[in-house]
Amino acid sequence: MYKTLQKYFGYTSFYPLQEDIIKEVLAQRDAFVLMPTGGGKSLCYQLPALLFSGVTIVVSPLIALMKDQVDGLLANGIPAIFINSSLSYSEIDAKRQSLLNNEIKILYIAPERLFMPEFLQFLQGLKISLFAIDESHCISEWGHDFRPEYRQLEILKEKFPKVPVMALTATATPAVQKDIILQLKLSDCRIFKASFNRKNLYYQIKPKDNPYHQILHYLKSRKKDSGIIYCQSRKTVESLTTSLQAEGYRVLPYHAGLPAEVRTENQERFIHDDVEIIVATIAFGMGIDKPDVRYVIHYDLPKSIEGYYQETGRAGRDGLKSDCILLFSYADKFKIEYFIHQKIDENEKLIAYKQLRHLTNYCEGNICRRKLLLDYFGEKFDEPNCNNCDVCLEPKERFDGTIAAQKILSCIYRVGERFGVNYIIDVLQGSKNQKVLQNRHDTIKTYGVGKEYTKSQWQAFTRELIQLGYIKLDGDKYPVLRLNEKSQKVLLRNEKVFLTKPEEPLHIPKDERDGDYDRTLFERLRNLRKTLADKEFVPPYIIFHDTSLKEMSICYPQNLPDLRKINGIGEQKLHKYGEIFLKEITDYCKQHHIESKPIIHKHPEFPVKQPKTLTTQTTLELYRQHLTLGEIAQQRGLALSTIVSHIEKLILDGEDISIDSFIPPEKQQHIRQTLEALGMKFMTPVKEKLGNDYSYEEIRLVRAKMMSKCGKER
Ligand code: ADP
Ligand code: ZN
Repeated sequence: MYKTLQKYFGYTSFYPLQEDIIKEVLAQRDAFVLMPTGGGKSLCYQLPALLFSGVTIVVSPLIALMKDQVDGLLANGIPAIFINSSLSYSEIDAKRQSLLNNEIKILYIAPERLFMPEFLQFLQGLKISLFAIDESHCISEWGHDFRPEYRQLEILKEKFPKVPVMALTATATPAVQKDIILQLKLSDCRIFKASFNRKNLYYQIKPKDNPYHQILHYLKSRKKDSGIIYCQSRKTVESLTTSLQAEGYRVLPYHAGLPAEVRTENQERFIHDDVEIIVATIAFGMGIDKPDVRYVIHYDLPKSIEGYYQETGRAGRDGLKSDCILLFSYADKFKIEYFIHQKIDENEKLIAYKQLRHLTNYCEGNICRRKLLLDYFGEKFDEPNCNNCDVCLEPKERFDGTIAAQKILSCIYRVGERFGVNYIIDVLQGSKNQKVLQNRHDTIKTYGVGKEYTKSQWQAFTRELIQLGYIKLDGDKYPVLRLNEKSQKVLLRNEKVFLTKPEEPLHIPKDERDGDYDRTLFERLRNLRKTLADKEFVPPYIIFHDTSLKEMSICYPQNLPDLRKINGIGEQKLHKYGEIFLKEITDYCKQHHIESKPIIHKHPEFPVKQPKTLTTQTTLELYRQHLTLGEIAQQRGLALSTIVSHIEKLILDGEDISIDSFIPPEKQQHIRQTLEALGMKFMTPVKEKLGNDYSYEEIRLVRAKMMSKCGKER
């Protein structure tokens, strides 16, 4: 398993559950795999496929995605094909022949083809090792993406009783989960459920306040990043696209009103990094496997938490930090309520209201966003601070806002409870707005008493008063502010109100992504990747993921063995692209007088748990005889660093080894603190900080000790 993981995928360790799932499948048992987007589902069937003698058949609903997946596998040297309606007869014939010759490890196919009688017969003549049903929630009518053709999969077990079936989905709702198992008739299968916590996603809710400028401000520092901006209506999609294009951004629209060719074309150009931004309705996204979407912005309020979680889930599949920003306004909420109000089916109405209520609770609350999201999906999240949402990272200060509240409430009262937020604020600020003058509201007592705050600050206060229940929103089409019992207490009895201290109007998340890497080199490598990708007609991420390019821009590998240590580079990619990327890196290093840095996080023997080799076993025995490291090295005729790596591996494998006799405790303490401060991933900064009195070997041993402790706790 580990050899295959390294050789073909270029990874050294598994993501959570992958190893258990693969073992289950290799034992030829059915399995049900629940993992969020980016959790690493594909590997769960792709790796076993390489170890099985027959072919693995992957059922997928999305023809567009198949080519992409197959390209990705081929780039890793894995013989894979797809068969679907985009191919000609003679192409399909050739593919069938290669299946008959047992040359293919993975076949992608849509369910409707699987059950064409003639094709079914063909398949029954093949040696099939595994069926993997991707996006398996499509089989359930309760899911958000029911596809009738998936229903045919019910007879899979009947037709192929001996072949194990693996169902995969990122759908988090329990009802759908049960349905899938039932429909597919999975027998006595283990359910593998990964956490739905997407740690690398930063969740932020921002009051919607001049959204176009909020977007521009956010984009300014992210010109090269890929992102999706979701809007509610086609009209907003079009107008936002045009405006951003005029600002010089590379943007394309996507919505169901565009002709199919245009949609496909725009999607392709996004995937191939020809444009950075897609502005879209929720029609966009299913089947987007792009791993490096760095942000998802909800320009308008989504309709439900499920939808929101799915849409934001398209950010950061590659595990690098990415932002999910939602612009929240009561006007949007009101718009959705208005649409729901017009629905005819009472039951549908109730569900829609409930979904909206969950979502607005999520937006308004001052509770960790991650906690609420996970709660919603029935997963416990008990950490006091998630460190990656706006609530946890930017706790809000409160102040005595009684006077501000009284001004707003009294103004609502004096204009007769007939106007919306903006009008009230106009009056408070003494606007010469025609409507205000016509209504003679320039003569009331609260006219012009609110000059101490800006318009957006007044909006924020009003929003909060609504949240806190001091103001009622009413009206059919346009929201009107009204008073209630709670507001009377503030107005008449001087009850105190605490409000959030106003924010700086344009506060955006910091752009401290993934620490330090050489951004100039990263850009050069990205450009190189893009040129190669265009030449081969594949999306850039098929060649290398951003994660790999970033690591190159940290370690500056100068030769093939070092490049091989970069995460995500297996044998095939090394062979195909190694030289050309190395040349780019070495040229750059020469120009800038940079030397390569050791790549330690992926020591070939490092996080991988392998059976103890004879040579580490020998080191262990000598350690047990109380020899020093130097003595062991001498006795065995090996370099000290080799012995250290043996000890390191033994520690990580859980062997009870004390390093106290090798490194004095004060020194250990100091190394530990430095590792805690700077992180364990990269050694060079740690070594630089500690200075010449500390060796790489010492740091490695302490780090191994720390990691084995964390590992046990986990
Ligand atoms: P999902 O289908 O669950 O959304 P993918 O299979 O597309 O997830 O995997 C998400 C990302 O994680 C991909 O970029 C993939 O290459 C990467 N990945 C998967 N497994 C590993 C692993 N064991 N080590 C490193 N990266 C991995
Ligand atoms: Zn949080």
